Amino acid sequence: MKITQISVYQVDLPLEHPYWLSGGRLKFEVLDATLVKLETDAGITGWGEGTPWGHTYVPAHGPGIRAGLETMARFVLGLDPRRVLDVERAMDLALPGHLYAKSPVDMACWDIAGQAAELPIADLMGGGSRTPRPIASSVGAKTVGETRAVLQRYRDRGYVAHSVKIGGDVERDVARIRDVEAHRAPGEIILYDVNRGWSRQQALRVMRATEDLRVMFEQPGETLDDIAAIRPLHAAPVSIDECLVTLQDATRAAREGLAEVFGIKLNRVGGLTRAARMRDIALAHGIDMFVMATGGSVLADAEALHLAATVPDHACHAVWACQDMLTVDIADGRGPRNRDGHLHLPERPGLGVAPDEGALGDPVAVYAL
Ligand code: MG
Repeated sequence: MKITQISVYQVDLPLEHPYWLSGGRLKFEVLDATLVKLETDAGITGWGEGTPWGHTYVPAHGPGIRAGLETMARFVLGLDPRRVLDVERAMDLALPGHLYAKSPVDMACWDIAGQAAELPIADLMGGGSRTPRPIASSVGAKTVGETRAVLQRYRDRGYVAHSVKIGGDVERDVARIRDVEAHRAPGEIILYDVNRGWSRQQALRVMRATEDLRVMFEQPGETLDDIAAIRPLHAAPVSIDECLVTLQDATRAAREGLAEVFGIKLNRVGGLTRAARMRDIALAHGIDMFVMATGGSVLADAEALHLAATVPDHACHAVWACQDMLTVDIADGRGPRNRDGHLHLPERPGLGVAPDEGALGDPVAVYAL
């Protein structure tokens, strides 16, 4: 089987509610999505998506994905998409680094491989759990009152897991954490995501002031060095995500005991192939996981769900449904959707969902053999 054509689409995905990243540093209203369609000489078509969480979250942006695809396309055309390692190596030779630009191609290859094998991707990867995965909300808010209101909006949709965005102002962060904990429902999974918004000194002030609550913080500093430096000085469990990009990051964090949880975002780490290696490092070191896309439509959520299904139930805290935050649906209701706060693994072969091509407009680029 050969990849014969690569079509690239750009779609704006508006957010239903404007979003403030931790500390109010960054505000997003629309996501820049890149959809990739791989066609093959076997008549099987695969879809991939790359949607950064705005251009200011991590070093990844929509135009960069499309520029990367332009550079890599001729090295990918003609390859067998089922041989994902060949495709990965070809992309690495054509363009070192730029993992986020490679992720949609890797995803589309897995979609094709699953369809060819007549298996959902999770089963092709070795076996997917059918236990529904709780969806984590993404609570971008500023004040105690706003935080309560946004959390309630998600609870009304059935959500039992929440990622509450904090960072920036010590007193306000402590007040918001104490208020959320005071109103925590039984069984809820709550993570306080700093998104790198603290200095080391700010991190220690909040983490010590809330020590009695034993809450978990995500990315409480800019780098692995920052997280390592404060690690002996507080007692809180830690999740890392933005500074978990390469396998070397994962091995260092695992061996040095820098985190109890990995937040694996497939687009950031270069796609499903690389994310699966990170999963194995986590499992080998007793590290639990959140598994999600950096953002995007139901396609991106579905890809992350397949990987999440290959994590043992006890080690997978939650996934994400960024689709629930958007005002447009490029797949017309198909694919895994929120059911009582959970996503259920699709049983169709491959990714299990494809976009409505009519909703994508004309491709912005087409590369063919
Ligand atoms: Mg995070």
